[in-house]
Amino acid sequence: PRDTVDVVVVGSGGAGFSASVAAHDKGASVILIEKEPVIGGNAKLAAGGMNAAWTDQQKAKGIEDSVDSMRKDTMKGGRELNDPALVDVLVTHSKGSVDWMTAMGADLNDVGRMGGASANRSHRPTGGAGVGAHVIQVLYDNAIKRDIDMRMNTRGIEILKDDSGKVKGLLVKGMYKGYYWIKADAVILATGGFAKNNDRVSKLDPKLKGFISTNQPGATGDGIDVAANAGAAMQDLQYIQAHPTLSVKGGVMVTEAVRGNGAILVNREGKRFVNEITTRDKASAAILEQTGKSAYLIFDDSVRKSLKKIDKYIGLGVVPTADTLVNLGKLENIDGKALTETVARYNTLVTSGKDTDFGRPNLPRALNEGNYYAIEVTPGVHHTMGGVKIDSKAEIMNAKQQVIPGLYGAGEVTGGVHGANRLGGNAISDIITFGRVAGEEAATYSKKN
Ligand code: ADP
Repeated sequence: PRDTVDVVVVGSGGAGFSASVAAHDKGASVILIEKEPVIGGNAKLAAGGMNAAWTDQQKAKGIEDSVDSMRKDTMKGGRELNDPALVDVLVTHSKGSVDWMTAMGADLNDVGRMGGASANRSHRPTGGAGVGAHVIQVLYDNAIKRDIDMRMNTRGIEILKDDSGKVKGLLVKGMYKGYYWIKADAVILATGGFAKNNDRVSKLDPKLKGFISTNQPGATGDGIDVAANAGAAMQDLQYIQAHPTLSVKGGVMVTEAVRGNGAILVNREGKRFVNEITTRDKASAAILEQTGKSAYLIFDDSVRKSLKKIDKYIGLGVVPTADTLVNLGKLENIDGKALTETVARYNTLVTSGKDTDFGRPNLPRALNEGNYYAIEVTPGVHHTMGGVKIDSKAEIMNAKQQVIPGLYGAGEVTGGVHGANRLGGNAISDIITFGRVAGEEAATYSKKN
């Protein structure tokens, strides 16, 4: 019958697609389900790159790097709270995963640097295309080529087990078919994180209440409940990556360096309201108190010239600009007269060397070189580090540290790979590598069961 397969994969992000293709190529029949009407999950939105060490692409560019250096950077970025066994899988498979994607038609030939990396190891398409969209497209094309059964608008609800505790299938809900069972010896959960679910986020970290998210609507974390109901243990759920300045227009994180280099924060009334370079928590809380729960980073050409990154944001179309502060105010519905006064006042504080208004400790430059720029920002949640506990074969474990037979997890739904903080470029690497591992392991397991 149609609804009996070797492996069911839940979620169509990078982890789910990698798992599906890898399981198929190991000889398993596969059904891939996705609760949203579109494929790609959050993976499709990833703009950074795919971290990998010791690759042909790096060698071709004369970049020196090592698996061990990637390991050290990943652990350090995660505040040494990562599961070292999972980090070992991530770093030792990273080159192989780039090769695997390349063999399937991906272009990961451009190699750049991301935060926290001691070498250029972020692999991405030539010419600046988004890595996530590219990787998903290649995986999707390969899934089509393999005739993998993909079902959109289909939500994974509950894991079915036999009396001995082995996985036997999955209860799903299709938009048109309603509830039905898919019988399978193995289920792979690749359901992503929960950054879009502020109830869940703020229960785990109350400081993040009211934050928006860069994530796609499906990033609600219901896969975590599916896993928990099947007895899965959780790990590190409290580690949630948030940022005080997310661009409202583009959903991109605006680096702290914009403030560090001299931008001020003003509200819609055109007034400063906080020491711009206070801690992330305090900056976030202060922004949420302003009209519309957002604020503006305001800066001039001298700040823009001091930081290359700003031109990237301008390129993304999220930085309105004008010749005067009054005109800038008009573009964004900020009180331009007040804004002009605020900047003039700020400039006198810069001259005096002391911020007697808000106690900002660094005053790098006056803002008086037009053009002027504004980026509307609000605090946002970007990535959830925690999730289901897996071992290095992507097997999901219960609270007694035993494997739940036939249940696998890969990608953002899992915890442990990134510790307390994920480095840029490690998400794509994580989902391709652990997706592949989960797919291959599940296929092998299903043949024996
Ligand atoms: P990863 O980066 O780990 O692959 P993504 O966020 O890219 O994760 O993809 C996860 C996908 O799983 C999303 O497209 C999401 O809509 C989907 N998903 C989440 N929960 C379920 C569920 N219960 N049933 C089916 N699909 C789900």
